[in-house]
Amino acid sequence: MMIVMKDGAGEDQITEVIEKLRSVGAEAHLSRGQFKTIIGAIGDREKIFEIPFAAMPGVEEVIPIMKPYKLVSREFHPEGTVVNVGGVRLGEDQFVVIAGPCAVESESQMLAAAKAAKEAGAHMLRGGAFKPRSSPYSFQGLGEEGLRLLDRARDITGLPIVTEVVDVRHVVMVSNYADMLQIGARNMQNFLLLREVGMQSKPVMLKRGLSSTLEELLMAAEYIVRGGNKNVVLCERGIRTFETATRNTLDLSAVPLVKKYSHLPIIVDPSHATGKREAIPALSRGALAVGADGVMIEIHPDPQAALCDGPQSLGLEEFRTLMDELRAVAPPLGRTL
Ligand code: PEP
Ligand code: MN
Repeated sequence: MMIVMKDGAGEDQITEVIEKLRSVGAEAHLSRGQFKTIIGAIGDREKIFEIPFAAMPGVEEVIPIMKPYKLVSREFHPEGTVVNVGGVRLGEDQFVVIAGPCAVESESQMLAAAKAAKEAGAHMLRGGAFKPRSSPYSFQGLGEEGLRLLDRARDITGLPIVTEVVDVRHVVMVSNYADMLQIGARNMQNFLLLREVGMQSKPVMLKRGLSSTLEELLMAAEYIVRGGNKNVVLCERGIRTFETATRNTLDLSAVPLVKKYSHLPIIVDPSHATGKREAIPALSRGALAVGADGVMIEIHPDPQAALCDGPQSLGLEEFRTLMDELRAVAPPLGRTL
């Protein structure tokens, strides 16, 4: 349930509502907008509905939330959330471009990609130090050494870093290096991991699961926000369908629908969605056109030699061209790069 307070409702009136909720063992989540304060009530429905909130002083209206997710729903928080990652703001006019290799492979590879990303105008860097691979025989990432190389890439370029965390035991270590933690598609419903990243302070990028509905994605985000971390960015990275021409099928319709259902920013990852570098430029422009808050793109100084996801990685020159194209198409759509 959401309890919408009147414009200018007093602090004592807000506190009174919160205390009433606590008296029946419910949690109160406060959302203070420019004019209105909304109190989200989470707990035993029956008990909450027994309290006559509508009759309490300062209360404008009481709205039941029908969706199973609450804290991430737009009903609860009508204004879009802006997530600040080391000074880069996701959820505003800027179309945020995150670029970097699939995996951190070596110092020379990571720094070459990072410098090229910076020169081309990317806003953030990516790179996997812990790689969740389908085969246990594939390259699994450099681990903490990879995190150190990402740290160095940030020092040199000034760009914030996003990197994946795959294990609850690594959350503290990864958050000591990263500006944003990535939860990969395979871990979207790893609820212990979601809880853990919800209890630390770095922003989280939550990727859509391989075969997950939007409702499941938003329920997964709810775990993180419920833990206290409101800085969640969603990522559409393609879903499994019958199509085999691409690695996955990019569901661009996720962007406008997530924007309708939720206040959280959403970006698009055309690299993992298609597995094909030739599709990346068109789908990046598509992501911009449907209103995504950004894209995450894999790049590599020598894609043929990449230890992971070479066929979907753009070469550094191709990435530069893509950035020029995005810069040209952004202004008529009311976006900046
Ligand atoms: C990645 O971004 O490195 C990755 C492994 O992607 P996904 O979890 O979407 O497969
Ligand atoms: Mn990859």
